[in-house]
Amino acid sequence: MTDRAVISERTGIPLKWYNVLADLRRPLDPPLHPKTRKPVGPEDLAAIFPMALIEQEVSTQRYIDIPEEVLKVYAGWRPTPLRRAENLERVLGTPAHIYYKYEGVSPAGSHKPNTAVAQAFYNKKAGIKRLVTETGAGQWGSALAFSCSLFGLECSVYMVKVSYEQKPYRRLMMQTWGAQVTPSPSPTTVSGRAILERDPLSPGSLGIAISEAVEVAAGSPEVNYSLGSVLNHVLLHQTVIGLEARQQMEQMDIYPDVLIGCHGGGSNFGGLVLPFIPDKMNGREIDIIAVEPESCPSLTRGRLAYDYGDTTGLTPLVRMYTLGHDFVPPGIHAGGLRYHGAAPIVSRLVEDGLVRAVAYDQLSVFEAGVMFARTEGIIPAPESNHAIRAAIDEALRCKQEGIEKTILLSLSGHGHFDLSAYDAYLTGKLECNGGGSQVSTPPQVPIVE
Ligand SMILES: *Cc1c(COP(=O)(O)O)cnc(C)c1O
Repeated sequence: MTDRAVISERTGIPLKWYNVLADLRRPLDPPLHPKTRKPVGPEDLAAIFPMALIEQEVSTQRYIDIPEEVLKVYAGWRPTPLRRAENLERVLGTPAHIYYKYEGVSPAGSHKPNTAVAQAFYNKKAGIKRLVTETGAGQWGSALAFSCSLFGLECSVYMVKVSYEQKPYRRLMMQTWGAQVTPSPSPTTVSGRAILERDPLSPGSLGIAISEAVEVAAGSPEVNYSLGSVLNHVLLHQTVIGLEARQQMEQMDIYPDVLIGCHGGGSNFGGLVLPFIPDKMNGREIDIIAVEPESCPSLTRGRLAYDYGDTTGLTPLVRMYTLGHDFVPPGIHAGGLRYHGAAPIVSRLVEDGLVRAVAYDQLSVFEAGVMFARTEGIIPAPESNHAIRAAIDEALRCKQEGIEKTILLSLSGHGHFDLSAYDAYLTGKLECNGGGSQVSTPPQVPIVE
């Protein structure tokens, strides 16, 4: 699909997003209405999303133009750097070449503004006044708060309580950009009150926070909801990562043998790998690896089934790998990976054998992150440490087998606001799989009764 016109020659930034739905051999299973269990139509989603995003969600057009206004904002930090981790390679003594695509240079410090900016733009254009959302570690909330401030939208964020307490700096970033932040579960919504009644000490989860945000958005015509991962249009916006990386490698005359990204809802992973999927479908050998935490193993130990995107059951049912919508993962530091489900697109790619998934415990990923910081200088986000761990293991396998492979990983963000997690690691207090419930036995919850 090397369509050179996709990337601007002048700026090096993609002018279009790549839509993998155009190339899937079978269409994705339709989302189902939470009450009727019939496929949802655009009108069902119009209560919480602008029509432009609903159209992108179902579009099968291979390339979709990026609006001028969005490109202008992207130009503030894109194209993001593609670097070779030569020091890391040397310390590992591996013949493998490790490249990383670094998304931590955005104002919010992660890949998330790639979609937040686009979503804020389309909502503003549709006349919306306020966006409501959830956030785990605070990465998505800060990306949306930043984007809303650019387009003059108000922003309300339900922040998973355990992160609200662990990560005051992310909350302060959101507030600095003008957002209103509420710890979730909260007494401000029906969903939040129901959870608190059952479990007053609930640490919260992305699923619960989504319920609260969707409830608020559905209740007002001037308020929309915004989701930072999982959905097709979110992965679409993130393909700027892979399109750029592909072009940057092409300019060096290289092509990756292995693609690696951490996987929470699937957006940075999808963003990196989707532009390479047509090549793999056409017979090119690429090992594509999604990396998740052992404590929230949706791809490696979940079931492929229709499930709700949130805890209360307000969102459409989507077919995805899921641990069950009422699964509350332990409070690990990679808050962005604490989601019960996986993107339907990634789920399909795993089902079809185009992508494989692995899981690591928290200690081993921080070990990898610290090694990366000490060799490459960048202190990665705890989420990104998962990708680094898998890349290091792959490089060590290359060393054992004496083969030279080119590995490309998504370094989805920096960890400057996650230093308390590094503190726990450096002082020997980091738990293998987070506090609270251990997932040695994957939950056998009924997914949808
Ligand atoms: C949110 C986040 C993730 C996980 O979300 P995905 O949608 O799976 O990409 C990973 N890394 C960072 C830095 C994040 O902020």
